[in-house]
Amino acid sequence: RTAVRLTRVTKRYGRGPDAAAALDDVSTSIAAGGFTAVMGPSGSGKSTFLHCAAGLDRPTSGTVQLGGQVLGELDEKRLTRFRRTRVGFVFQAFNLLPSLTVEQNITLPLRLAGAGTDHDSVHGVTAAVGLTGLLDRRPSQLSGGQQQRVAIARALITRPEVIFADEPTGALDPDTADGILTLLRRAVTDLHQTVVMVTHDPVAAQRTDQVLFLAEGRLVRRVESPSAAEVT
Ligand code: ADP
Ligand code: ADP
Repeated sequence: RTAVRLTRVTKRYGRGPDAAAALDDVSTSIAAGGFTAVMGPSGSGKSTFLHCAAGLDRPTSGTVQLGGQVLGELDEKRLTRFRRTRVGFVFQAFNLLPSLTVEQNITLPLRLAGAGTDHDSVHGVTAAVGLTGLLDRRPSQLSGGQQQRVAIARALITRPEVIFADEPTGALDPDTADGILTLLRRAVTDLHQTVVMVTHDPVAAQRTDQVLFLAEGRLVRRVESPSAAEVT
């Protein structure tokens, strides 16, 4: 099964024919149930790839299919609902709401999706990411690694088919980053989710099943079971 398919996707931020393409005619598919890294130099289009693939931004041309749904067929309202129920996001800067508790942050996607918060599944997810006992704290009372665990629990709570992560270990020290990669790996192996992660970090990329390399908006290489030499 294919989780994400891009067909001839081009994204230009400026108007007019001479605006540079941040993504230039990219076609690829990502199989369900795998852990994929997207790498490339700064400005090569990694964030743009992730945002288009996740339905956070619309391509200028080409199509994106996510879990069999062609995103371009959805109007804004349906696209928002699709993201809230079918996709999870993890960002480098954690993006937690400071005024909410850990538990409220984690259950926010359920409330946004209009779904009930069932205590067993909340406790299952928080136990899985090692946050039991911290549910009443505010994000400011947590370490960076704990905050990213909250963000991962929030991404997992709706059991989305695909989790998109933009530099999820970029703000963390190596040991803490390792724990976060273990959680993302477990989402793939134990929960059969698909994880697509933008990263600069060769150590993180080596923990994935395949690496897509971008350069100047183009997909230039795809490496399965990456070795250290291939990602540095
Ligand atoms: P990466 O994530 O690999 O650093 P990006 O996808 O952020 O690359 O950017 C690719 C290109 O698109 C860069 O030239 C960048 O300056 C440009 N770009 C990204 N976002 C915007 C935006 N919102 N408006 C205009 N240009 C943008
Ligand atoms: P950037 O990659 O440009 O630094 P972010 O990764 O923080 O920015 O966010 C990228 C986009 O995703 C922004 O437009 C932001 O509004 C949106 N966004 C951030 N968090 C979420 C979320 N949990 N669900 C949906 N959209 C989000």
